[in-house]
Amino acid sequence: MYQSHLPVTTLREEPADAEVPSHALMARAGFLQKLVSGVYVYGPMLWRVIRRIETIVREEHDRAGCVEMLMPALQPMELWVESGRWDRYVQDGILFHFRDRKGSEMCLGPTHEEVVTDYARRMIQSWRQLPVTVYQIQTKFRDEIRPRFGLMRGREFLMKDAYSFDADEEGMRESYSRMREVYKNVFHRCGLRFTIVHADSGSIGGSTSEEFMVDAVTGEDAIAVCEETGYSANVETARFRIPNPPPEVEERPMRREATPGAKSCEQLRELFPEVPLEQMVKTVLYHVTWPDREGLVAVLIRGDREVNEVKLANHLLALKVELADEDEIRRVTGAEPGFAGPIGLPEEVRVVADGSVQGVCGFLCGANVTDEHLLDVWFGRDLPEPEIADLGMVQEGDLTPDGKGVIRITRGIEVGHVFQLGTKYSDAMNAVYTSRNGHQRPLWMGCYGIGVSRIAAAAIEQNHDEHGMIWPLPIAPYAVHVVELKSGGKDPAEDLLASRIHDELEARGVDVLWDDRGNVSPGVKFKDADLIGIPLRIVVGRDAHEGKVEWSLRTDPRDKETIPWEEAVERAVAACREAGRLGAPRTPVPV
Ligand code: ATP
Ligand code: MG
Repeated sequence: MYQSHLPVTTLREEPADAEVPSHALMARAGFLQKLVSGVYVYGPMLWRVIRRIETIVREEHDRAGCVEMLMPALQPMELWVESGRWDRYVQDGILFHFRDRKGSEMCLGPTHEEVVTDYARRMIQSWRQLPVTVYQIQTKFRDEIRPRFGLMRGREFLMKDAYSFDADEEGMRESYSRMREVYKNVFHRCGLRFTIVHADSGSIGGSTSEEFMVDAVTGEDAIAVCEETGYSANVETARFRIPNPPPEVEERPMRREATPGAKSCEQLRELFPEVPLEQMVKTVLYHVTWPDREGLVAVLIRGDREVNEVKLANHLLALKVELADEDEIRRVTGAEPGFAGPIGLPEEVRVVADGSVQGVCGFLCGANVTDEHLLDVWFGRDLPEPEIADLGMVQEGDLTPDGKGVIRITRGIEVGHVFQLGTKYSDAMNAVYTSRNGHQRPLWMGCYGIGVSRIAAAAIEQNHDEHGMIWPLPIAPYAVHVVELKSGGKDPAEDLLASRIHDELEARGVDVLWDDRGNVSPGVKFKDADLIGIPLRIVVGRDAHEGKVEWSLRTDPRDKETIPWEEAVERAVAACREAGRLGAPRTPVPV
């Protein structure tokens, strides 16, 4: 490919809204262009990256016996009402939906469980057709609250989604483990370092789910990991043991103290230095939305811990939980925010306690009176023992659930997510098959997503330097960048050699970008090459008349070797063979 043919101008300035390196670098290199928030034009170079990722995804799925198909992005509301998800998706605001000219409500698919279940219930009749896993690579639409980070969180993006159908639970588990292996292979082959974590099933539903996280400091997800025990989980679901137990205290009668203006645990620590955070109980009020009603819930949690809202929503079977607003707090506590407590709340407020309050005695808590707190409060004596659940957020230094290791918090980018759905959709949508002995049984399902466009961004978050992107060879837009220093007829020896290397590489199945631009200085060519980040580099310059070139890798462009051009070609072919990206030989057409 001749670089002079690409309709791309590289930019010095990064876009104002670029918060992470992958977005800034891809925009500067002309890989993507914003159309409107969260919606991008994929330029020629990015499209090549995406197609390489798709090829790896397809090869690994096909190898595991999955079958590719394509489902529509445009979907009727009725299917979503049938599965029971319409209200939640509309409530979340994530769904793009509208009426067609006949007045029927439609949406643009954010995911395809409904459509695929409808397909399966009409297509699959007998146990003889099972198990089966179908997949597609297709555009998804989600009206994200905060579209950002370029390709990382788009409102229109490319996803590979797969769905498995089995006769029973055991079959579903087998399909799930097979897909888990497929995912490992895909991300290994893309050249990414990643961690598999336990995850929340969210609005997709089902029981078990795991996420594939690309390790990157800029990742949006926080993950709890423990090298000693191998434990890893998204913080949204991470279970843990608290290392510091509450203090043992003598029993004293409950008392009320004036605490003017003291609304936080830190302020209370100053007023009562003898009471550690471990001996305080916070009361956090939430406004909770269920499918059929809304209400307030008070969560009790130890002073040094925080509430995990994902766990809370799951425990309450709620559509949504949000911190109660100040007026709601005043109405139910009769006090200013900051003084809520578990004693004397109205009946309408359900009280649930995080496991961290277990064993906390003689504690300090809000009194539901402005500027007052209660001290020496005991569960079972001054108030009933509360309903206990795991509602806490993991913290750095906590112990793993088995107590054998210490948890560290790191960050990652979710590039894949696998779910065991069970019969959630097949029950709701009556997707059944006839079993071996003639009974009607629900299909057991799994679903599996890969963020195809997000992988491109994640690869760059993991691999870049101050000069630009560094593409892993398996998914790079081109394998080799031939940088000709004096092109366009200024030095016939250089022109001849560069074109020879270009043609030879193409003939051997190596894809190559040749910087043949005549009106661009060597300095700019090097800058652009560093920015674009093609992994193997062959510089054609001074030594061209001797048939020699400079060979280097984008990982360290200063580490150069002068070698005969034939050897450079052999090295490129060998590297591509090893990375599994040697293509079909091509004979270039002269242009
Ligand atoms: P997130 O938690 O990041 O919002 P999700 O859990 O809602 O993602 P899934 O429904 O699990 O996403 O979708 C499968 C995969 O699609 C994700 O693992 C991710 O790689 C990708 N993906 C999800 N949302 C987006 C988006 N807005 N832009 C790009 N890729 C996305
Ligand atoms: Mg997910």
